[in-house]
Amino acid sequence: MARIYRITVLPGDGIGPEVTEAALKVLDAVQKASKDLKLTYVHGEAGLNCIEKHGTNVPAKTLEMLKETDACLKGPMTTPEEAGAPPSAAVTIRKTFNLYANVRPCKTLPGVWALKPDIDLVIVRENTEGLYFGKEFEVFPGKAVAMRVVTQKASERIARLACKLALNRRRHLTCVHKRNILRVTDGIFREAVFKVADDYPSIKVDEVYVDAMAMRLIKEPEKFDVIVTTNMFGDILSDEAAQLVGGLGLAAGANIGDNYGMFEPVHGSAPKYAGKNKVNPVATILAAKMMLEYLNETKAADLVDRAVGEVLKEGKVRTYDLGGASTTQEVGEAVAQKISRNNAL
Ligand code: NAD
Repeated sequence: MARIYRITVLPGDGIGPEVTEAALKVLDAVQKASKDLKLTYVHGEAGLNCIEKHGTNVPAKTLEMLKETDACLKGPMTTPEEAGAPPSAAVTIRKTFNLYANVRPCKTLPGVWALKPDIDLVIVRENTEGLYFGKEFEVFPGKAVAMRVVTQKASERIARLACKLALNRRRHLTCVHKRNILRVTDGIFREAVFKVADDYPSIKVDEVYVDAMAMRLIKEPEKFDVIVTTNMFGDILSDEAAQLVGGLGLAAGANIGDNYGMFEPVHGSAPKYAGKNKVNPVATILAAKMMLEYLNETKAADLVDRAVGEVLKEGKVRTYDLGGASTTQEVGEAVAQKISRNNAL
């Protein structure tokens, strides 16, 4: 029987439409290669590009569309910065659907420069609280305060997801915090992680202060498996981690809740490259692969993983950031062709 999934596609701003187009080429090849797998796409509007037309970056129609689909593939979106502008579209979608976990893998890829040959870690970032809770105010001119919200409930929830992930990997969980300074908020986070980890006795749990973690990601990234941390620390560490294995053009992220998942590249809309068919679509292709994993289509996800690995290893088709001169669409087509060829073997 056919396995049918409805996917909302939000191409976004800047380079978003082009990297999304390349990822869809890959998903089309996966569907042709996978018996009984059917993805139906619904294309929606979101991002800076629709503020003028709709007065917001996430129109109500798009939210309705998301509610009716199984998952979302999202391109990067430009965040409006002027006072009074709506918050980032990604933040709005994460909040609306309670996508409390941001999962960002970081792995040495074949044929791509990496700081170490054997990096394979995942950063699990709490996505709804911390300093990105979004409440800051000016007490009086020149003095402002931002709220750092940390609850036991949200911390336990993210810790459980991280433990489950670690169970299926190398069973090593590292809790990253700054409890020596942020004693109350990170005290709650740390206690929650260790409490939940007690339920998973086969997992080795340790802890590292966030500043030390920034250093150890450079010194010995291969020693880490699953890293669980609060919102802003996770955001910063995952950009650092992306650079260890080839840069933002290769880094994908999943935003996961109990009932929905949104998948996107870690990078932003890179406006200066918009429309140039130049940037690397691999991050978005790997985000699409994570979406297939979320839908429990592991064979289809493996097809994408293998094809990306082969294209990168051969090194013939690659974008400027990896020292090549191929276009965004050429990379998408090369990965799609590998999938078709591997499937025909
Ligand atoms: P950015 O990630 O868009 O780009 C920074 C630089 O990284 C680019 O100039 C480019 O050199 C490189 N880069 C990014 N993506 C690449 C790719 N696919 N291939 C090759 N090189 C790539 O960061 P920015 O310039 O700080 O942000 C631009 C806009 O994107 C901002 O409005 C920001 O708020 C937004 N943003 C959105 C998201 C999201 O939608 N989730 C995430 C991050 C930033």
